[in-house]
Formats: sequence, structure tokens, C-alpha cells
Amino acid sequence: MKKMNYISTRGGINPVGFKEAVLMGLARDGGLLLPSEIPVVDDRKLAQWQDLSYQELALEVMSFFADDIPRGDLESIINKSYATFEHPEITPVVKRGGVYVLELFHGPTLAFKDVALQFLGNVFEYLLAETNSYMNILGATSGDTGSAAIYGVRGKERINIFILHPYKRVSPIQELQMTSVLDANVFNIAIKGTFDDGQAIVKSIFNDIEFKDQYCLGAVNSINWARILAQVVYYIYAYFKVARAESCSKVDFSVPTGNFGDIFAGYVARLMLGSGKIGRLVLATNDNDILARFINNGDYSTKTVVHTSSPSMDIQLASNFERYLYFLLDCDPLKVTETMLRMGQTGSLSMPESLIKRIQNDFCAQSVSENEVTAIIKEFYEKTQYLLDPHTSVGVRAGLDNMFPGRPMVCLSTAHPGKFGEAVNRAVGEQDLPPALHALIGKQTRCVVLPADKSTIKQFIKKQVDA
Ligand SMILES: *Cc1c(COP(=O)(O)O)cnc(C)c1O
Repeated sequence: MKKMNYISTRGGINPVGFKEAVLMGLARDGGLLLPSEIPVVDDRKLAQWQDLSYQELALEVMSFFADDIPRGDLESIINKSYATFEHPEITPVVKRGGVYVLELFHGPTLAFKDVALQFLGNVFEYLLAETNSYMNILGATSGDTGSAAIYGVRGKERINIFILHPYKRVSPIQELQMTSVLDANVFNIAIKGTFDDGQAIVKSIFNDIEFKDQYCLGAVNSINWARILAQVVYYIYAYFKVARAESCSKVDFSVPTGNFGDIFAGYVARLMLGSGKIGRLVLATNDNDILARFINNGDYSTKTVVHTSSPSMDIQLASNFERYLYFLLDCDPLKVTETMLRMGQTGSLSMPESLIKRIQNDFCAQSVSENEVTAIIKEFYEKTQYLLDPHTSVGVRAGLDNMFPGRPMVCLSTAHPGKFGEAVNRAVGEQDLPPALHALIGKQTRCVVLPADKSTIKQFIKKQVDA
């Protein structure tokens, strides 16, 4: 079999294998890593795949891309990663209110990021053992990603994780989810500042190359290819389930979008399945609608971030969009580099009409307002007794509005409704906390509170690691 190579969207690195791509995270030339080729799976193979369990399917899909890890090892990593999920199907699909809901929230922190971060944590552990090295993960969170990252690496031997969150500015449950993890390798840091302060500190520490190298800093943000890869699996899994249930061959997906990671995984799944299988990919945004404006009218101008009931999608610059640009611009790294440079200078992205047309062939897009979110939670609950979290609601609204007659629509459910209870309670009245979250109340916690200051954070990391 041909070896899978990873290249940078900006063309500035020598091709690397999967293992190196995962450890590199962001490409060294500032671009994003992509496989040099997305394999198209033939029909004979697809027929074999449709009866596989989630883990078996994951092994088949990932084997194409992670071909420098022996198959048996990859299988163990996958089985370990999804043993922490409390549903036997890992990502079950249920039919409600005229759409299919793909439940991605059965992992340890009740949000879809577990699907990717449980896998990434185990891949890191495997690679570090192989090279006898260690890693200090550093990240900032506004609440959600932090806990998924912590649960991905808690208790792992060669890894420490330092997560900054804004002191008293995350929800009490989100704070508990992070700070009740008492494993010795987990360091929660509440900074006296905002999420943006935290992110700026993390960025600037990563730019401190000497410190970064000395302390083997690693990142877990959604630009890591391993995260995208893990997410490709559930699109294919859901495709088989729904195509069979509906006796059809074409299925559409609606995806609540922030950083464009999840929907890009859907784009990769569509390429892998070959034409005529995944139809529409509906890109659903909240009031932070830059991607919807761009796709619908070519308007890519940044505005300030507004806070919504779906905070994990409160994003202006979607970092994974560059991966799609690479395909859109004929896999030409020079064009990508030029486009990204221009965007950096002008803060906007202008595209000829012909390219906008092509984007519209790949995606439809819709932004969903806060009022619509509340309304759809209520309407869905009254009609079906099924609760939607606010992120999922954005996708369900856009999914319902972009259905193609006679074709099933799968709406990705990215969080358990109990996790973002405030918006849900506002729509349908007070709901009980899910048992997994209720169990956190009163638990012992560990967290340090520090000023939002780069050198203090660096000192803290040094002290823990050198100890
Ligand atoms: C991260 C996140 C999203 C957005 O996913 P992207 O890959 O950033 O587009 C949507 N919903 C929830 C609950 C999330 O945590």
C-alpha cells in the first residue's frame, strides 16, 4: 500500500507521516496539515463496512490515514478511546421531529469534543511512549474544550496538562467538570481576566520558542489532524444507519459550526464515500455568522464576537477553514498562502463569483438567531419530548430549513442539553441535571488562581514540571 503523506496547506514543509503530523499540530510554516490525498472507498469495501461496529469502522477509516501505526496498535488505541463512552453505539442516531439526530454527547464530558479528544489523548500517550519523551499540554478554554481535553489525558504518565480558564466566568458546572479532576498530571489555572486574556497568554507562551522546546509544550486545539480524523468516522457511521433505515443512498447533514473542524470532517467523509452519498452539508452558525455570510454572499468581514447561548460556536475566525480553502483553490499552496496573507492584511476575503458558486455547491449555510434557538428547543420538546441543547438547536433549525424533498437530514447533536441548561430551562422550564453532572456537586476540587500575566503562568509551569 502507498504510504500516506501529510503536507501543509502553505506548501512550506517536507511531507511527513501521520505520527509526525499529530505531534506537529500546526504546520511549521503556519499552515494546516492535510493528507496529500483523500482515498475514495470503493463500493465493495463500502458494502463490507456497513455492518461494522463503531470501533471496527473507526479502525477501517483511520487505517487509511494512520498507516505508520501498526493495525493492532491502532485497534487498541481506538478501543481504549471509546470504552469511556456510556452508549454501546458510541454515536447513536435517533429519529425525532422529522430529522435524524446524531448524538455525539455520550462521552465523559457530555459534548462532542470527547469523540476526538479521547482518541488524541491515547494517540499522544502511545507516541510519547514510543519515543520515550513527554509533553506538557497548555491551553485556554472558555469552558467547554478544557474539560474534554482534561478528560482526554487525565492520569496519563508522560503528559501534564495546564488549562487556563477565566476565574468565575465559566458556568459553575463547567468549572466543576474541570476542577474536580484530581489526577496529579492535571493543573487547572483560573486566571483573573477574560478568556481572551487566557488565549493571548497561551499564544505568547507558544511563541516563546526556547520555553516551548525546553518544556515540550503541546497543543490540543482543533487544528490537530487527529481530531478531524476521529470525527470523519461518525459521518460514515451515521450515513450507513440512515441510508439503511430509509432505503436510500443519499443523506444530508446539518452541522452546528464554530471553528469549521466538524463540518470539514463531513467534507472529508463526503470525498471518501464518493459522489452521490453525502448530499448537502448545511453549515449552521449562531449570531456569529461570518461563515454563513461568506457562503451566501461572499461577505467575509469580521465583526466583534457576540456572546450567545451556544458559546462553543462564538467564534469569528474559523481556523480550520484554511483546510477547505486548500481544496477550493485547486490544492495549490501558493494560492492558499497568497489568500491567507491578503486576509491577514485586509481582514477580509474576496473571491470571484465563480469560486463562490463552487462553495455554494459544497455547502449551504444559515445563521440562527437566539430567538430561533429558544423557539426550536420549545417546539421540539412539545412535539417530541426530546430536549435539544442550544448548539444542537442551531443545527436542527438550519437542517429543517434546508431539507431536500424526500431526502433524510442528519442533525449533529454536539452537546447534552443538561450541559447548557440555562437556555434549555429558559425555553421549557427547569430540568433535572443529568446524573453525570449531578454527581459532580460537592466533589473535592483543585485549582490555583493566578493573575492574568504571562511570566507568572510560565513560572507556575516551570515549578510544577521541574519539581
Ligand atoms: C466545539 C463545539 C462546536 C463547534 O465545532 P467546530 O468544530 O468548532 O465547528 C459545536 N458545539 C459544541 C457543543 C462544541 O463544543
